[in-house]
Amino acid sequence: MSLMAPKNTPVWVDEQRCKACNICVSYCPAGVLAMRDDVHAVLGQMIEVVHPESCIGCSECEAHCPDFAIMVAKKSEFQFAKLTPQAKDRAKLIKDNNYKKL
Ligand code: SF4
Ligand code: SF4
Repeated sequence: MSLMAPKNTPVWVDEQRCKACNICVSYCPAGVLAMRDDVHAVLGQMIEVVHPESCIGCSECEAHCPDFAIMVAKKSEFQFAKLTPQAKDRAKLIKDNNYKKL
């Protein structure tokens, strides 16, 4: 069972399910997602939605998360951003930073 969709939110996570595998971060084209260090998480890291305003609603993160820990709003329910050069650049920087937030 997934979390209820929060209002006016493009993408959200269920921290109870996240296994900090980085897969969603690796697929996100817009630098929306990154890992944060988290001493309370089993693996020492936790997924974070760092730039929700850049989410383009592609659903790559949700489609590839093996643990059903990340969810994307329906296109009918949220007006997503367009992919910008800045967002693409940030996505690359995050990946080059071992998927950690900048
Ligand atoms: S829906 Fe696409 S742009 Fe939005 S967080 Fe997921 S992968 Fe990134
Ligand atoms: S793909 Fe899923 S389990 Fe892996 S880091 Fe992202 S939200 Fe967590």
